[in-house]
Amino acid sequence: MKNVTVLGAGTMGNGIAHVFAQSGYQVALFDISQPALEKALNTIEKNMDRQVSKGLMTAEEASIALSRINLYSSLKEAVVRADLVVEAATEREDLKLKIFKDLDALAPAKTILASNTSSISIGKIAAVTQRPEKVIGMHFMNPVPVMKLVEIIRGYKTSDATAEAAIHMSKDLGKTPIACQDYPGFVANRILMPMINEAIEALQTGVAGVAEIDGIMKLGMAHPMGPLQLADFIGLDVCLSILKVLHEGFGQPKYAPNALLVHLVTAGDLGVKSGRGFYDYSQGLKDAPVAYPPQH
Ligand code: NAD
Repeated sequence: MKNVTVLGAGTMGNGIAHVFAQSGYQVALFDISQPALEKALNTIEKNMDRQVSKGLMTAEEASIALSRINLYSSLKEAVVRADLVVEAATEREDLKLKIFKDLDALAPAKTILASNTSSISIGKIAAVTQRPEKVIGMHFMNPVPVMKLVEIIRGYKTSDATAEAAIHMSKDLGKTPIACQDYPGFVANRILMPMINEAIEALQTGVAGVAEIDGIMKLGMAHPMGPLQLADFIGLDVCLSILKVLHEGFGQPKYAPNALLVHLVTAGDLGVKSGRGFYDYSQGLKDAPVAYPPQH
C-alpha cells in the first residue's frame, strides 16, 4: 500500500496527510474548499519546519515528504490510484454517508475506505457502500504528527484483512493502534466529551472561570491541557457534533450538549480554527481566557 487519499484538509486532514507523506506514502489531499487545501499545505510545511528545527527530521527529508503531497479539487482524480482513503471531512452523518457513497462509486474495487470520524457509526457508513468489508474507522488524535494513538474501529462487516491492513499501516506511521467496538463515540470521545461538557456546565453555572477550571484540571489531574482549551483545539463545532451523536445514540440526558456550547458554535466561536472560543487566539496560541458571562 503506497497511495493514500486524504479527504478533507482541515485540522485533522492536514495532520493525516503529513504523517503519511513523512512515512513514504504518496498522498492525494482532496477538499471541496481551495482555501482549505492551500492552508493545509502551509500548515504541513510549518509543522515540518518545526520538526526540522527540533532535529526530528532533516531539511531534505522534509522537502521530500512535502513533495509527496498533491492537492486535488476533483474527487474522481484524487482516488484513481488510492490503496487507502482516509476520510476526514466535517463531522456530519449526512455528509459522510454521501461521501462514502461517492467514494464507493469512484475508488478502485481494491481500495480500503477508512473514516477518521470521532463518533459516527462505522457500520452505518459501511452500509451505504457495496464493500462494507473494506470500510473501517481509523481515528487519529489531534495533533496527528504528535499523538501516538490510532483508535481502530471495525464495523459489523469489516473483514480481518481490512483490520490487519489498518493496524499495519498505523504501525508503519509510528503510531500505536488500539481496537474497540463500533458504539457511539467509540472509547476516546465517549469518555472525553462528557468531561468537556461538564467543564462547560461548570463555567456556565458560575462554579469557576475558564482559567480556574482549566488550571484545576491541569494541576489536579496532570492533564497537559485543561478541558476548555482542549475543546478549543478540537473545535467547538466538532465537540457539539460528537455530543449530539452520543446523546442520540444512547438516549441519555447526561450526554445533552450544554447550552453555552451551542451558543458559541451558533455565534461562530469555534475555538482555535476561528480565532476565538473559550480563549482568544487573536495574538497567537497564548492563554487568553475569554470572560464568561460575556462583558457587554
Ligand atoms: P475541520 O472542520 O477542521 O475540517 C473539515 C474539512 O472538511 C474542511 O476543510 C471542509 O472544507 C472539508 N469538507 C467538508 N465537506 C467535504 C466534502 N464533501 N469533501 C471533502 N472535504 C469536505 O474538521 P476536523 O476537525 O479536521 O475534523 C474532521 C474529521 O476528523 C471529523 O470527522 C472529526 O470528528 C474527526 N476528528 C477531529 C478531531 C479534532 O480534534 N478536531 C480529532 C479526531 C477526529
